[in-house]
Amino acid sequence: MKVTFYGTRGSIPTPGENTVKYGGNTACVLIVADNKKLILDAGTGIKKLGEELISNNDPVTIILSHNHWDHIQGFPFFVPAYQKNRQINIYSAPTNPVEHNAIIEQMNMSTFPLSFKDLSADIKIIPFKNKFENMIINGFSISSIHINHPNGGFAYKICHNNKAVAYVTDNEVYSKDNLNTDFTEWIDFLRDVDFLIHDAQYTDLEMPLKLGWGHSSIDQAVKLAKAAKVKVLVLYSHAPERTDTELDKIIKDMQFKELQIIASQEGITHNI
Ligand SMILES: [Zn+2]
Repeated sequence: MKVTFYGTRGSIPTPGENTVKYGGNTACVLIVADNKKLILDAGTGIKKLGEELISNNDPVTIILSHNHWDHIQGFPFFVPAYQKNRQINIYSAPTNPVEHNAIIEQMNMSTFPLSFKDLSADIKIIPFKNKFENMIINGFSISSIHINHPNGGFAYKICHNNKAVAYVTDNEVYSKDNLNTDFTEWIDFLRDVDFLIHDAQYTDLEMPLKLGWGHSSIDQAVKLAKAAKVKVLVLYSHAPERTDTELDKIIKDMQFKELQIIASQEGITHNI
């Protein structure tokens, strides 16, 4: 599998001189295997990905972790949605309240100049209801689990050819207010994963002021990755305030024999 980051930032897009290296776009990841593509989330990073996809007319598969704006706000700018004869399947996670159409409803309010009806593509919303194991979607075997996050949502494990990538964004590992999956269940779900993309929005110093916000500290993500014996941990959903210099230092200071740690970086592709 090839994993490319199009958006790595949590909460709000953060362009500017301090985020040039790791990127300022919100959540979007592309996974490719055997010429099949899977798009995870539709934050502002999906705009650039959409521009790359218009050269062909292949069906598009998008899987959403949840409906918070930083995970859907790029979709109205996703050019394939405006292409005739383009099939777009959007798999939507259960949230509280349940709003599987939120990604298109955002275009039906006074918040956007065009309406969903103006999109020419054949767009289908496919709701995920309960958590599932080994569902085949577009050639990938996918399992889901509930995230610890306000309004809920799903994390995913994506397997292909004996390799596993996990996408666990917007997850507070030790949540008190939104505990849907406890530490032991996370270990079971993530055991031996090759490439774990995990929320690591805060530092341990920042964490006490952010309890209940649905994100983890970098050290908490590391602790989980070690316990689950994953091979590579990718820090994801960087705080809007986190500068390139700070991330460089965090990565430099965190090197372990048993676990490789990297920071997700916009435009970078990893071979798994
Ligand atoms: Zn969120």
